[in-house]
Amino acid sequence: MALQQGENRVVVNVNMMKLEKLLCMKGGQGESSYANNSKAQALHARSVVHILEETLDLVHLQPPPPPHHHQSAVFQVVDLGCSSGNNTVDTVEAIIKHMMKRYHAAGLELPEFAAFFSDLPSNDFNTLFQLLPSDGVAGVEYYSAGVAGSFYKRLFPARSIDFFHSAFSLHWLSQVPEGVMEKRQSAYNRGRVFIHGAKEATVAAYKQQFQADLGAFLRARSAEMKIGGTMFVVCLGRTSPDPTDQGGAGLLFGTHFQDAWNHLVQQGLVSSEKRDNFNIPIYAPTSQEFQDVVEANGSFHINKLEVFKGGSPLVVSRPDDAAEVGRALAISCRSVAGVLVDAHIGEELSEQLFLRVEERATCHAKELLENLQFFHVVASLSLA
Ligand code: SAH
Repeated sequence: MALQQGENRVVVNVNMMKLEKLLCMKGGQGESSYANNSKAQALHARSVVHILEETLDLVHLQPPPPPHHHQSAVFQVVDLGCSSGNNTVDTVEAIIKHMMKRYHAAGLELPEFAAFFSDLPSNDFNTLFQLLPSDGVAGVEYYSAGVAGSFYKRLFPARSIDFFHSAFSLHWLSQVPEGVMEKRQSAYNRGRVFIHGAKEATVAAYKQQFQADLGAFLRARSAEMKIGGTMFVVCLGRTSPDPTDQGGAGLLFGTHFQDAWNHLVQQGLVSSEKRDNFNIPIYAPTSQEFQDVVEANGSFHINKLEVFKGGSPLVVSRPDDAAEVGRALAISCRSVAGVLVDAHIGEELSEQLFLRVEERATCHAKELLENLQFFHVVASLSLA
């Protein structure tokens, strides 16, 4: 017993440490890569572009430095949780274009633009760098750099950034909340791999983790932002006040994905403890929960905070084709959680797991198309 206890503890600690080193969306440009499975995010981003623009309109323009000052103005923009794919490149380009328009309209000399693409160290930065336009697109020129690290910590020098952008990333927690994978803790999420449908103590642990993480994120950004800078954030959210109903994320990770894990356990391919030692570190907040953290933190003023319906993450050409829908769900699930699953049970079992997800999703295709909807929390923030 004592030995087992020790073993468990080691597993948990390793798990907590590792997320930051491990987590990334599937790299490359293959079928289940994030680059190839982020069209829905691009669509959802388009529906809040007016709030992005409003947020950009609130950034203070830097006047050109006085002559003989031996310094030039630099406008620095960051995309946090950029992943690898066209979304981040398109977004940064749109942001810089919008700012160029504002400088022109104000009759000010253009600053130099610098864009930082930031994500965790395992992100496929190589694929991303190859997508960057080498000569600038239609007159948009900027210096670019990749910055590897967790956005729950400091990433940039103090007062150096004019504009922060983060899309579909902040629902990722910094770790699986403490206790959730520890057998002897009340928060132990026995039999489950996600918060969806979990018991109260588990839910409380997830919620606390979300609050602590978002607080740390805001503290870090408030130190890094130039006076007069602003931030635009959009992440998975939910409309139900009940956190055990995680909406779209719940359907993605709490139903067929959960059943597929259970099936592996029933077939003796994975032990129940192994399953219970895996949890998806995602929390989709309500706009109220998000607002509460921003207000308690106090570093930022809320210009706008809304929840909006993003729609389905499934992009299918033939909605009547159950097999295509099932496949789309499995691939979508895998592009996001595949790396974590691979690390936990190895690629062979992971393959088995996602095959089962696909089978189940195929049987429930119609229902999935109707019910799988993502809501997002979108926020425009300025330094308080
Ligand atoms: N912004 C992109 C990608 C969203 S995918 C788009 O709109 O399409 C979510 C990204 O958040 C992933 O690449 C993941 O690695 C990143 N992410 C999750 N937790 C993070 C953390 N703590 N720090 C930095 N990036 C993180």
